[in-house]
Amino acid sequence: RQDGEQSNPAHSLFETFLRANQCEGVLGSFQALCKQLALEHKGQLQFYQKLKSCLNYWNAKALWLKLDKKAGHRDYDRGTACASSKCLIIGAGPCGLRTAIELAFLGAHVVLVEKRDSFSRNNVLHLWPFTIQDLKALGAKKFYGRFCTGTLDHISIRQLQLILLKVALLLGVEIHFNVQFNGLLPPEAKRSSGWRALLQPSSSPVGQYEFDILISAGGGKFVPEGFKRKEMRGKLAIGITTNFINRHSRAEVEVAEISGVARIYNQHFFRNLYNKTGIDLENIVYYKDDTHYFVMTAKKQSLLEKGVILQDKGDVESLLSAQNVNHEALLSYAKEAANFSTNYQLPDLEFALNHRNRPDVDMFDFTCMNRSENAALVRECHGARLLIGLVGDCLVEPFWPLGTGVARGFLAAFDTAWMVKRWAAGTSPLDVLAERESIYQQLSQTSPDNTNKNISQYSIDPTTRYPNINLKAIKPNQVTSPGHVEIPPCQDVGRAYESLLSWCQTHTAGYRGVTVTDFTHSWKSGLALCALIHRFRPDLLNFSSLDQHNPIKNNQMALDIAEQELGIPPVLSSTEMASVSEPNQLGLITYLSQFYEAFKTAEP
Ligand code: FAD
Repeated sequence: RQDGEQSNPAHSLFETFLRANQCEGVLGSFQALCKQLALEHKGQLQFYQKLKSCLNYWNAKALWLKLDKKAGHRDYDRGTACASSKCLIIGAGPCGLRTAIELAFLGAHVVLVEKRDSFSRNNVLHLWPFTIQDLKALGAKKFYGRFCTGTLDHISIRQLQLILLKVALLLGVEIHFNVQFNGLLPPEAKRSSGWRALLQPSSSPVGQYEFDILISAGGGKFVPEGFKRKEMRGKLAIGITTNFINRHSRAEVEVAEISGVARIYNQHFFRNLYNKTGIDLENIVYYKDDTHYFVMTAKKQSLLEKGVILQDKGDVESLLSAQNVNHEALLSYAKEAANFSTNYQLPDLEFALNHRNRPDVDMFDFTCMNRSENAALVRECHGARLLIGLVGDCLVEPFWPLGTGVARGFLAAFDTAWMVKRWAAGTSPLDVLAERESIYQQLSQTSPDNTNKNISQYSIDPTTRYPNINLKAIKPNQVTSPGHVEIPPCQDVGRAYESLLSWCQTHTAGYRGVTVTDFTHSWKSGLALCALIHRFRPDLLNFSSLDQHNPIKNNQMALDIAEQELGIPPVLSSTEMASVSEPNQLGLITYLSQFYEAFKTAEP
């Protein structure tokens, strides 16, 4: 620390930001810094330029040097390549954040929504050499001094998210936590508007944001509508992850990591493990990071014999369901495997805690893994085009013990940024999609051995990373064929909105004082909502007793019944419902969508 840092409040806030070790601390110190410097955290790369001019002491300058070097790459055209692009990214996992950073360097306006409010995953990711180089070039060591020191080639998921979150904020990416993406809202014919998102909570200002690019980085379980998933079914594979507290003692430091021992390479080790403990594994990895992290693939028979799985079942879902797993036995199994594989040299292994404050041990099924058939598609409605791309686990789910997730995730993030650049340059949609799919074909085969060796030259340009890539392997006419990328007509796109309206109309028809024609005025009196509930659950309210001149009471009653009896949480208050207008109609749509989900298969 130098004198200037302590005497200048902005400098000390910036230092706190650099060192913050929790999501909340990062956001808090960043907001305080912006306030101190009277900087509005909005709008693209200009924010970064302004921040830089306000903070020019030694430590900040060292970081600017790195980021400037990166920003100066020719691919970004000095931050103008995508200056008129507006991007919405779903998910602040490593891949969403990494994509956000690239799009920010390209000069796009980038907004990211994340449904959670913290980063909590202790599990550790293996990094390929290019990802280490990439993160160092983004200043990773400034944020996390221990980043890949010596021969370390891994990082905990949460530390990686923290580094990327900080870089993204510095580059002007607008990030909204506690905001869930629930679907797309197509442009309306009568106004020349753009695409928007249905969000929870609907009061989020991002609901008003119109964008022409949507990137989904919502993880393995979240894929936006329109993408087909392909299931890759392998032989039964049960993965176990566990984390123990790392006290960084001398004894712990001396224990060797296991960077991946597979059965076929070390039969002797696995036989001994089985003979001595009854634990039978296919492979095991041990990384010493913020925690002592182990990931292993266990054989079903040994899990049954050790009482971890209670009963053998045909389908994996029931086999690994909470009711069929003895959690205590799972903890013992994981601890015994960790102790044996480190030769009992890690003293007093104590479980680290997960986000639920419980011992961090989990069992996952890797028998079925999903990948998306396509990496991107285009939608068009009333002349407004929307480019949608997938990155990370929602594009291809990784097999964790192989540690391919984040490396392939970053490759896809770069490929996606390249696609956005081509899109912004005015390339025809079919050409953009055909090129993206040609590049996507490469992804699953990539390894550190078959990607270009000159990792310092890697950029968003795919030719810097994939040797001999054919960017025209897929032709534009192939991306319109069935089962491939579709450009659905506007009617299809608007279907969600229109069909919700028509579903509400059908099921409120005939009720006194109710005529549903929109998602604003028609709902103000509260009668329409009460009618909808009454249609499916007449036992819950007496419709004939309602007074149409008491909208707040009607709405309150409907909101309470929906929450208590149907488990549908309110999105707007009864006062907001009684005065629902254009700006908060998204809230009403989000809310009604949940009724649709609850009742779509029910016959009134
Ligand atoms: P994720 O890291 O899964 O991030 C997706 C983000 O999107 C999440 O923060 C989620 O909250 C958010 N999100 C989802 N839906 C919405 C929505 N509708 N609106 C707003 N936000 C949304 N890999 C390994 O190699 N080793 C491991 O041990 C390992 N353990 C893991 C443990 C868990 C519990 C999980 C979920 C993943 C694990 N992985 C592991 C996978 C690894 O984390 C990913 O490969 C890597 O993080 C890249 O993923 P991603 O950014 O695509 O998605």
